[in-house]
Order: sequence, then C-alpha cells, then structure tokens
Amino acid sequence: MTSGNPRIYIPHTNGELTQLLRRHPDARIYAGGTGLLYPDGVRRLTLPPVLIALYGVEDLRRIARTDQHLDVGANATIRAISRVAHNVVPQLLTDTLPHIVPPGLRNLATLVGNVCTLERVMTSVPTLIALGAIVEIRRAGGGRWIPVARFHGGSTEAPLAPGEVVTRLRIPLDRYDVQLFRKTEDTRLTMAAIASGSKRTIENVRIVIGSSAATVLRNRELEAELAGRKAPLGRREINQAAERMRFAARAADPTFTSFDLYRIAGFVTTFLYRVGR
Ligand SMILES: Cc1cc2nc3c(=O)[nH]c(=O)nc-3n(C[C@H](O)[C@H](O)[C@H](O)COP(=O)(O)OP(=O)(O)OC[C@H]3O[C@@H](n4cnc5c(N)ncnc54)[C@H](O)[C@@H]3O)c2cc1C
Repeated sequence: MTSGNPRIYIPHTNGELTQLLRRHPDARIYAGGTGLLYPDGVRRLTLPPVLIALYGVEDLRRIARTDQHLDVGANATIRAISRVAHNVVPQLLTDTLPHIVPPGLRNLATLVGNVCTLERVMTSVPTLIALGAIVEIRRAGGGRWIPVARFHGGSTEAPLAPGEVVTRLRIPLDRYDVQLFRKTEDTRLTMAAIASGSKRTIENVRIVIGSSAATVLRNRELEAELAGRKAPLGRREINQAAERMRFAARAADPTFTSFDLYRIAGFVTTFLYRVGR
C-alpha cells in the first residue's frame, strides 16, 4: 500500500458531499473502490492523500424510472441495477451488466465508477454512449449535465473540474429495433450498437467500440449515411459498411491487431444483418 495516512471523509448527505469537495477540491472520490484497488492493471493498493467515500450518502443509491429515462445514482452497484426488472433496464444494458466485473465484485462496483475511470474505456461505456446516456455533475453551489461521451470522446478538456462529483447517470428509454452488445473473450474489445427506424427505413444507428485506449471508436460519417437507407440492407451494403469501420479503426488506433479489426468488421456485419430482419 502506498500513500502513508490517507484522510478519508464519509459524508451522509449531498450537501455534506459538495461542501467537503469545496474544502478538498483535489480529493479522490471513492465509490465501490474496486477501480481504485486495481489501477492500470497493477494488483497494488495505491491510495491518494484525501479520499471522499460516497457510501454514506443514501440518496445516491437510488435507481428511479420515469417514462422517458432511467436514473442510476452514483452509489448504485452493478448487482442492484441487475436486480431491477429486465423490462425496466434497456436490453443493451441488461446484456452488458454481467460483463462489467467478476460476480464477487458486483455488490461493490458501481456503474458510475465504471464511467468515471478515465484511463481506459471501461466495459459499460460503449453501451452507455450508444444509449445516449448523460451524467449529472455537482459541485458546491451548482450542477450541470454532460453526455457520457464527454468522458471518453477524445476531448482534451477534463470532464470533471476540481471539486466536482458525478451524482447520477441518466439513460434515455428510447425504443430500439436492434440492440447488440459483445465483449471479446480476451477482453480487448467491447462493442455496442443500436438501430431504430420506421416503415422499413433506418433512422438512427450508433456503433461504439471500446478498447484499451482512453477514447471510444465511432464512425459518425458511416452512421449518418446508414440513416435514411431502406432496411433490410443488402449484402453488398453491409460488407462495405463493415469494411469502412475496419478502415476507420485502423486509422484511429495502430495498436489494433488484424484479429481486432476482423472482429470489429464481424460485429458490424452481424449487427447490420439484424436491422430490418
Ligand atoms: C478483479 C477486477 C476485475 C475487473 N474487471 C473489469 C472489467 O472487466 N471491466 C471493467 O470495466 N472494469 C473492471 N474492473 C474495474 C472496476 O471494478 C470497475 O470499473 C468498477 O465499475 C468501478 O466501480 P467502483 O464503484 O468500484 O469505482 P471506484 O473504484 O470507487 O472509482 C473508480 C474511479 O472513478 C472515480 N469515481 C467513482 N465514482 C465517482 C463519482 N461519483 N464522481 C467522480 N468520480 C468518481 C474514482 O475516483 C476512481 O478514479 C475490475 C476490477 C477488478 C478489481
């Protein structure tokens, strides 16, 4: 263990939390602690000098649903979200949850902690970006909402300023015709995609790929071109789209292996075959 005697604060209300953050703007937030315990893949506990643990704030444990969205508090664990009825959580997220952490950690690890790990794209991130999720950020005297994509979209600006904390994740409950999630067995790639449309016309497509890089891969030009096309797509259109995604992946990240590129193209092919069928 490093860092001699870390100071740990345990607030019990949102007000106490933001006041503590005002006094200690550089404190590290501790949710389930499973990501802090496992930084950069090194099995060594490294604690920062000041920690603010969220588990005392009961309000942040809440999972709530309206007609339009699902709200997940910063203390809601993967297990708690898994227990919410399957018809409440979007299918794409239901399919993703078992892949986020090993079963023994699901009572500790939070979905918000997964999003807030910035070093690499964690397992839930492609899914949450594909679903258009946003997060609520609070600080003493204010708050704002930003898309999850801002955490892993390649922006040079840090998503959280000193003294800020994520308090809630909001997932829109839109209707999708196709939702597909895949995590490769070697855990190198996490892929999520959604499509929706009407009267056999594709209206909306999002394909998001996560890897060990800090930003997700997305080909927005391809997504925009697919929107408006008739479904189902023909074999040639599907092959061309898969090939374009493979090119985009190779251009974006030279560390992708040929096998990674093959699996990315395969995922796009499988997904697009399902659209309109
Ligand atoms: C054995 C093992 C296997 C794992 N396997 C996987 C895997 O396959 N896929 C995967 O994605 N992850 C994996 N993880 C990493 C980790 O368990 C998950 O990312 C988990 O979801 C993190 O949630 P947490 O609540 O424990 O976050 P914490 O560890 O508490 O925090 C993680 C990071 O987010 C910040 N943070 C947390 N909450 C907030 C907040 N509300 N506001 C601002 N910042 C915040 C923390 O400061 C820290 O930097 C694994 C971990 C272990 C130990």
